[in-house]
Parts: sequence; C-alpha cells; structure tokens
Amino acid sequence: MTSSQPPQPARPGSTPSRQNLDPHLDRYAARTAGMTASEIRALFAVASRPEVVSLAGGMPNLAALPLDSLSTQMAEVVAEDGLVALQYGSAQGVPVLREQICEVMAMEGITAHPDDVVVTVGSQMGLDMVTRLFCDPGDVVIAEGPSYVGALGSFAAYQANVVHVAMDDDGLVPENLREALAQAAKRGQRVKFLYTIPNFHNPAGVTLSVERRAEIVEICAEHDVLIVEDNPYGLLGFDGQTYPSLHSLAPENVVYLGSFSKTFASGLRVGWVLAPHAVREKLVLAAESATLCPPTLNQLVVSRYLETHDWKGQIKTFRENYRERRDAMLSALEQHLPAGCTWTRPEGGFYVWVTVPEGVDTKAMLPRAVTARVAYASGTGFYADGFGSRQMRLSYCYPTPERIREGVRRLAGVLESEMELMRTFGSVTTRAVSGPQFPSPDTA
Ligand code: PMP
Repeated sequence: MTSSQPPQPARPGSTPSRQNLDPHLDRYAARTAGMTASEIRALFAVASRPEVVSLAGGMPNLAALPLDSLSTQMAEVVAEDGLVALQYGSAQGVPVLREQICEVMAMEGITAHPDDVVVTVGSQMGLDMVTRLFCDPGDVVIAEGPSYVGALGSFAAYQANVVHVAMDDDGLVPENLREALAQAAKRGQRVKFLYTIPNFHNPAGVTLSVERRAEIVEICAEHDVLIVEDNPYGLLGFDGQTYPSLHSLAPENVVYLGSFSKTFASGLRVGWVLAPHAVREKLVLAAESATLCPPTLNQLVVSRYLETHDWKGQIKTFRENYRERRDAMLSALEQHLPAGCTWTRPEGGFYVWVTVPEGVDTKAMLPRAVTARVAYASGTGFYADGFGSRQMRLSYCYPTPERIREGVRRLAGVLESEMELMRTFGSVTTRAVSGPQFPSPDTA
C-alpha cells in the first residue's frame, strides 16, 4: 500500500491485517525495525503488583534521601534563582554544574576540564547521542556479553550490529576482545567502538580488574577503536573502593558517560558525557538538536545539592543500604537455590547474574515465577543475539532484605519444580542454547 491509499477499515469478522492495526506502518523509517519494547519494560506492569517480589527492575532505593531538606532546597532554587532555573540554558549544560561534575569524576582518577563535559538527560541520552554520532547502519559495536539493555536499545535504533565479548569474574576478557576484533577485520566490518561498563556491571555484577584495564585500553589503541566507558555505578563499591577509569588511562580515546541517577536521584535525569574536545563539539550539536538544552531547574537542583549537602556521606549511606541487600541476596541464594545454579558475587552496584542448569529456559519460566509471586529479568534481554536463555538478572537494589529473602525462596521453589519437570519429561525448553557462555564462578 502506498501512502496515498488510506488504510481500509477491517470488515466485520475479518482478521485485522498489520496495516489495519497501525495505519502508519508504511511510513516508518527503516531504523524503527530494530526498536522493540525491552523485555524488562514489558515486565514492569506485572512485576510491580504489590504481592510480587520484584527482583527484576533496577530502581535505586531513594528512601535514604533527606526529602525534607531537598524540598526546601528545591524551593530555594526557584525563589532565589528562578529566572535562570526556569529559562532555557546552554546546550552543553550549566557551567557551575560542569565544574562540580569534574570534582565528582576526580574521585575515580579523572582529570577533566569543564569545557569537555556535556550535561545530558541521564546517561541514556549520552548513549543515544554517542551512537548517533558514530554509527551508520551495519557498523559494529563491541559490547560485553551480557550488556546493558538500554545500550542495546540505542545500538538497535541506529542499526548497529552488536558483537558480544564474554566476561569472567574479572570482567571483559582481553583475549576475547582481541579475537572479536580479528574476526571483524576478517569479515571486513568496521568496528566503531567498544562499549563497556567496567564497574559493578549491569547486569553481570562483575568488575574489570585493574590489570585488565591497561590491557583493554592498549588493545583498543592498537586497533584504532574508540572506547565508550559507561560508569553509573563506580562510586557504589561496598567497601568504598574505586578503580581507575579507562578515561584516566587514555583520555583521547575514551568517551566517558556519567550519571547522578544512582548516586543521587534518577528522576532528575541528570547525567553527562566527558569526551575528547572534537567529539565534544559534535555532541553539543547533537544535544542541541535533541533537547535544545538539558533542564536548567534540575541542573541547578543537583548543583545546589552538591554544594550544600554532604553528598559523599549520602553515597556512603546508599552503599551501606545496597551492601545489606547484596548480603541478604547472596546468603538466600546460597541457602535456597538448587544444585547446578551458579551466580556472580558483586562488590558494588545493584545486580547478581545467575546461571541455571542446562535445559531450564529462564524466559519460558518467567510466567510461572510471576504466578509464584516473584519476578526477575531473563537473560535474553541482555544479549543482542538471542543468547542468555540459561541466565537471569536479579536486582537487590530496591526490595527490603526480608523481601529479597522471600523472593529468592519463591524463585528457588519455581526452579525446583522446573527441574523436576525436566527430570520427568526431559528438557522443558525448546530454545537452542548457543553463543558465548558467561563462565560460572566455579569455572572462571
Ligand atoms: N548505563 C547503565 C549501565 C545503566 O545501568 C543505566 C541505568 N540503569 C544507564 C546507563 C542509564 O542511566 P540514566 O539514564 O538514569 O543516567
């Protein structure tokens, strides 16, 4: 059908065609084919029912924030600085906030100039802009397997091909990266960048070892591949530990994404990109065409918070909260999960990555888990190539320790019955299990 022919209404009793369901189907740009609802988002509605223990989402636990003093401060921003706060601002972001962002990044060894920082509407916008700047359809992006679902969404939206590189308990494996780059070169594919989450990985929960950081930076320099370093969790190490950022090792070859979503408040949607100077100029143009400027009010609220609050003390409080929840989850997993399951042991951040015995399909099992009043994110959503059917991500960031324990107990019950079915009838999955295997803690 061409756009000059209006869609015909469905005749009563006829099966509605795709075009009758969406009369705009012929008009969409080709790139929308890669835009699908993330499995995690699709799950949110069910998982947020109060009787369900949700180990699925990655919502920060904001209950620890000092809401009273924050609301006073927000009112002060409008009362004292309202004509600036409520006005358009610079596309690059408010200068004073960019200076403060440099101080935040210094905690992870980064020396940066505020001129090279672009404030974004969350780091998700940074991901979208960076992909827009660098990726033509068919270009290759190398990413850890598994990888952050929102990044995979951006890569799909710009029709980039994702090649996953397996990790172990020390993060991305340099040898596997070399191999992926060699394979891409053999196929004549252009690799535009390596996308990596070195600290407290979402969803794998692992951290890139310090030795490997230098090696990965070196490999990318050798192959002339840019690094996109995504670091929203870097300050959430449970022992207060931080790691040298990849940017600090190779400032000219790393685009760094930061965020206040996990260390302050995700609803304010304030993140940033730190980029080499020439890239920064292009980013500002891309940001301008996307939003004109990031919300001035939110930037001033973050700026005042950093200036007047003990924000480092607040991060410590967050860390303690998350550590307690991580402990509750790990001990419940130990106590309840059936033999044959393995999982990672995060030292910061929000997530545990679980591998279940062969034959169990976590995506197929999910409706049964929700019926048993527990939700998780099945592994396939974190791969661009359909791998991950034996994996799941469990988030411990939001529920209380008691709810986490109860959720894991319920999950273990579902897994036990799934495995019992397998023993009786053979495999309960019809999906092929292929692709790179995340090594279990026992084999890594
Ligand atoms: N990167 C990673 C690895 C994430 O986990 C998230 C949020 N879950 C984001 C980026 C996006 O964060 P935001 O847009 O809230 O800054």
